[in-house]
Amino acid sequence: MKITPLGVGGAFTKTNYHNNYIMQIGEQLLLVDAGTTLRTSLVEAGYHYTDIDYVYISHLHFDHVGGLEEMILQRYWHFEDGKHVPLKTKIIVHEKLSLSLRTLLSQSLNNQGHAVEDFCQFVIPKNEGSMFIGNSTFSLFDTTNFHQEGMISSGFKLSWNGANLVYTSDIKRLDQANIIAQVDEKTVAIFQDVSFTTNGAHATLDEVLSYYPSELHERIFAMHYNDNVGDFDEVIQQAKIQLVKRQQVIEF
Ligand SMILES: [Zn+2]
Ligand SMILES: [Zn+2]
Repeated sequence: MKITPLGVGGAFTKTNYHNNYIMQIGEQLLLVDAGTTLRTSLVEAGYHYTDIDYVYISHLHFDHVGGLEEMILQRYWHFEDGKHVPLKTKIIVHEKLSLSLRTLLSQSLNNQGHAVEDFCQFVIPKNEGSMFIGNSTFSLFDTTNFHQEGMISSGFKLSWNGANLVYTSDIKRLDQANIIAQVDEKTVAIFQDVSFTTNGAHATLDEVLSYYPSELHERIFAMHYNDNVGDFDEVIQQAKIQLVKRQQVIEF
């Protein structure tokens, strides 16, 4: 399991790109969210749109979906030796979000005789069910209303060879989402949205530390954080959590 953080910043980041990841699972590449900075962050990390096997979309904020349309179009309009070889984009999305995402994409893709289905294949694990990516199991959990009231969102758990990671995506109300129910003795990492300042849509460091039992703190990988993260070095060290850094590859 090799994880490349393409970006680690919040929605308004100027320096750290949007919180999007490449997870290499065996031979498969999973892109976790596709924000507007993807067009730059992907190439800077050494990847191309055509490398991606699956893209997972957690929710419809622009730092998670703003770069998806370009990716879909560039894959579709893929040419080899002057010949059009369209690549359909496989999008993993929670059942609750699939209609909204399809509608969003159809506004720009349904024209000139084309429809969303020509460009994309929606992969929807049913009833919070699981699917295989390579030899790993990918399962979604619903976090609707727990990032922002009224917003559909999800996180996921990825399990392989007796280990797993939990990825919260954007979240504020950890207790209501019952994230801890996803964590077990085989969990090697909790990729957790962490804000260092008061925030109505993202868990603050204090909220994260008080939610998770202290023995889990060293397994927390803080992401989606403020650009001035350097001002919080001491707090982070004291907290004994890990900080995900852009392009700093993590392997399990
Ligand atoms: Zn976000
Ligand atoms: Zn968000």
